[in-house]
Amino acid sequence: MPDTPVTDLPLRADLVGQQPYGAPQLDVPHLLNVNENPYSPPPEVIEDIAASVAAVGGSLNRYPDRDFRDLRADLAAYLERESAATGLTADHVWAANGSNEVMLHLLQAFGGPGRTVMSFAPTYSMYPEYARDSLTTWVAGTRREDHSLDPEATIAHIEQVRPAVVLLASPNNPTGTALPLADVHAIARACATTGPDGAATVLVIDEAYAEFRRSGTPSALTVLADYPHLAVARTMSKAFALAGARVGYLAAAPRLVDCLRIVRLPYHLSAVTQAVARAALRHTDALQAQVAQLRTERDACVSWLRERGFTVAETDANFALFGPFEDRHAVWQGLLDRGVLIRETGPQQFLRVSIGTEAEMAAFRGALKEVTGR
Ligand SMILES: *Cc1c(COP(=O)(O)O)cnc(C)c1O
Repeated sequence: MPDTPVTDLPLRADLVGQQPYGAPQLDVPHLLNVNENPYSPPPEVIEDIAASVAAVGGSLNRYPDRDFRDLRADLAAYLERESAATGLTADHVWAANGSNEVMLHLLQAFGGPGRTVMSFAPTYSMYPEYARDSLTTWVAGTRREDHSLDPEATIAHIEQVRPAVVLLASPNNPTGTALPLADVHAIARACATTGPDGAATVLVIDEAYAEFRRSGTPSALTVLADYPHLAVARTMSKAFALAGARVGYLAAAPRLVDCLRIVRLPYHLSAVTQAVARAALRHTDALQAQVAQLRTERDACVSWLRERGFTVAETDANFALFGPFEDRHAVWQGLLDRGVLIRETGPQQFLRVSIGTEAEMAAFRGALKEVTGR
């Protein structure tokens, strides 16, 4: 045996001391912490999913369709139905293992050393991680007191920073704030020339929670055709009740999608994932049957919290940000002690609760009353 000198692992200097991202996964009766859909897929959907996976079983010795054309066509059809957007085809759609991976592809293609990605805080805590992992500089702008974006200030900041990519979640996480279509237009128009070397800035509207938006709040998909540098990201993790399958996607001009095809790993979307996603899309109505109910439950939760004097952000998503608490950790812990897990995230004195079933929301209200005396 050669004498191997004792050395440390060559972890990248910027990763030393960093922790893997993730909310605590605890075994608790009421999981209201990661904005999942609380309803399991119905039995007839599970049956179709199982049969669809069995049907590809015989060809699992082969690599899957690298370009997953059928799934992309199905997703395009779904998006047209859901949003009133028109002209979407398989060429306009990209997908990966969760929209987190889709957005990582965006930064791998358009970010990188010497380039910048921007967002506006408080927002999704994964965005700076995509930046770090793709060696892209991270810049966070700010929002108004009510968590909405000030379009003029936002555009001025973008023009000053000249980022390669801007990520805007709408509805925003953890605040629930939706971006008005007029502001998407204004920001997209500005982004046409604010990128590196006179190029455009790629503007990503992250619509992970779009299906929960209140009626009258349009999707950015309806203006996709106007902007070759606009991408709208979606996911099957939330409204589709399919977080465990890991399927996220986006719609954009085919040229933008072609840029993402360069950086994806070959066969990144398994045959099993493709089969599960296509089966689920055949049952969109059944899987999203409770979305209306969750919206009603959300609005009731917001009203209830406000009646008790809490400040609650306007929300178009399946969660609500509420507070303020002098010691939010104590409130979070008090709820956890009563079997209700929510999320300690966002502005210092606030907490975020995901909207669950009627019974779960009753448990949340009961626990919060006990903990805060309100
Ligand atoms: C949950 C969430 C996603 C979706 O993540 P997946 O990887 O698709 O599960 C994307 N963006 C935001 C803001 C989210 O909160």
